[in-house]
Amino acid sequence: MHQKPDGDAMGSTLALYHLLTRLGHQVQVISPTNWAAFLDWMPGADLVWDYEKSKPESEACVNAADWIFCLDFNVLYRTKNMEQLLTEAKAVKILIDHHEQPQVAVFDYGISITAKSSTCEMVYDFIISSGHRDLIDPDLASCIYTGLMTDTGSFRFPSTTASVHTAIADLKNLGLNHSRVHEHIYDSNSEERLRFLGNALLKRMEVLYEYNTAIMTIPKSDLLAFHTKTGDTEGLVNYLLSLEGIRFGAIVIDRDEERKWSFRSKGDFDVNQFARKHFNGGGHKNASGGNTLDSLAETVQKFKTVLLDYKSALN
Ligand code: 5GP
Ligand code: MN
Repeated sequence: MHQKPDGDAMGSTLALYHLLTRLGHQVQVISPTNWAAFLDWMPGADLVWDYEKSKPESEACVNAADWIFCLDFNVLYRTKNMEQLLTEAKAVKILIDHHEQPQVAVFDYGISITAKSSTCEMVYDFIISSGHRDLIDPDLASCIYTGLMTDTGSFRFPSTTASVHTAIADLKNLGLNHSRVHEHIYDSNSEERLRFLGNALLKRMEVLYEYNTAIMTIPKSDLLAFHTKTGDTEGLVNYLLSLEGIRFGAIVIDRDEERKWSFRSKGDFDVNQFARKHFNGGGHKNASGGNTLDSLAETVQKFKTVLLDYKSALN
C-alpha cells in the first residue's frame, strides 16, 4: 500500500490478505509508514508491519517474496522509503489500482481501471471473478466496505456506480455490519482533532471567489499546538468543496520533510493534471495530491500565481 495509507489502501490490502491466507498462502502486509488510529480496528491491522519501524524484517520479507501485490498506488515513489527496495525486488509484481497513468514498466501483471471507485471494489471483483465468494466473511467484507465508503466520500462522488451499490448489497448478504464501520472511521475524533478543525476553518481558510476556489494553509505551529496525529488532517479539504459554488479546493500542510498538497474538484476541472503539472503529484481527476520542498509561503504564492491561468476553466 502507499505511504500514510487511507481506508482504501488498508482495506484493499487486508481484504487481499484474508483471501490469500484463506487459500493457504503465506502473506505479510507491509505499510511504508504508520497510519491513522481510526484504521486500527480493521481485522488484520494488528498484523501489518510499519516499514519504518521494522526495516530488517520488511526487507528480508520483500527480498524473499515470490509475489508482491501493490495496491492503491501505481508509481513506486508513493511507497516513500520502500521505493528502492521494491524496484530491486526479484518477485513478480502485480498491480491492482485505480489511479491515472500507472508506471507500467515496473509491474509484471496488473489491473488499472480508473473508472473504479476504489481499489477495494477491484479486490471485491477479483475475489468474485476468481470464484471465491464463499471466502468473504463479515471481517473481510468490512475491509472492502471501508475503502468503498472512504474513496467515494460515503457514496456521493460521481465514482459511485451501480456496481458499488451492488457490491455492497452482496456484502450485506454476507453479513457486513456497515454502521459499525462508519462509527469506527467517522466517530473516532479526539477533542483536539475537532478543535484543530474548528481553528482551521476559522483562521486558515481563504476563499478566492473569482476563481470559485478555496484554499486552506496549515502551518506547522497548528500541528504542534493541537498535537495532531497521523490522519487528523484527512478530510479537511472536503470542507472547502462544501462551500456553495466552490469547484476547486486545495489544502497545503507544512510537514517536516515537505509541503503536502491535497486537491479536490467538482465537475470538469482536472486536479490530476493540475497536480502533475505544477506540484509534482497526481491522482484522479477530482482528487489528487502533490508535494514540494518550497516553504509554505512560497508554495502558496506559487499556487495563487498558477491559478491565474485557470480563471476561465474555473468559471
Ligand atoms: P489525498 O489528498 O487524499 O492525500 O490524495 C488524493 C489522491 O491523490 C489519492 O488518490 C492519492 O493517491 C493521490 N496523491 C496524493 N498525493 C500524491 C502525490 O504526491 N503523487 C501522486 N502521484 N499522487 C498523489
Ligand atoms: Mn483508492
